Amino acid sequence: MNIILNGASGSGKGSMAALLVRDFGLVHISTGDLFRENMAKKTELGKKVESYVSTGKWVPDEVTIAVLLDRIKQPDCKKGVILDGFPRTLNQAKALKAVLDVDLVIAIDVTDEIVQARLGGRYMCRKCGTIHAARWDKIDKCKKCGGELYQRDDDKAEFIQKRLENFKQNNAEILDFYRADNKLFVVHDKLENTPEDTYRAVKDVVAKL
Ligand code: AMP
Repeated sequence: MNIILNGASGSGKGSMAALLVRDFGLVHISTGDLFRENMAKKTELGKKVESYVSTGKWVPDEVTIAVLLDRIKQPDCKKGVILDGFPRTLNQAKALKAVLDVDLVIAIDVTDEIVQARLGGRYMCRKCGTIHAARWDKIDKCKKCGGELYQRDDDKAEFIQKRLENFKQNNAEILDFYRADNKLFVVHDKLENTPEDTYRAVKDVVAKL
């Protein structure tokens, strides 16, 4: 079973993916995580994508598609994948269709206000990478390992709106693409929802696949 999670940065794709991994044993693949891992290790790929990722611009299709297709070829992906943050362009969606049967596209629909609020309050642990809603939880150390928390460059206010505009511009045609294939399921999120609240409807749909 292969699933795509679609939604703006800050729509809660990462939390939704963690719940799907817990219940359905799929492999979670986030292109954003793959890029950040490579940046942290200072690989050739990391150096190539750094200027895009740290300013909230999208990495060019040829790079992103090559990275993703290479990852889903790995043996662990045979049990099924959850793609998070891919595809973000129609080109990416078409390249994926040529190599992978997608069973379901879960589109998390959120308002701009939700994205602004969530991303502005999101901090990441320098040591273990765990993401925290630090501004609401009023914490300054990682709850998991005690590491220092920092705000990702691309989560700073000036980049959030740019990311959102980019996302909306391209996403309509991606949703049309999957709607035409009868693969699309849209879930509407609210600011007061916990990840589990939003997940409930999704779980029922996935369980029926
Ligand atoms: P994310 O963690 O999904 O918000 O991704 C962080 C950043 O990685 C994005 O702002 C882009 O710079 C880059 N990125 C991740 N996925 C893609 C993609 N499918 N296409 C282009 N750039 C991407």
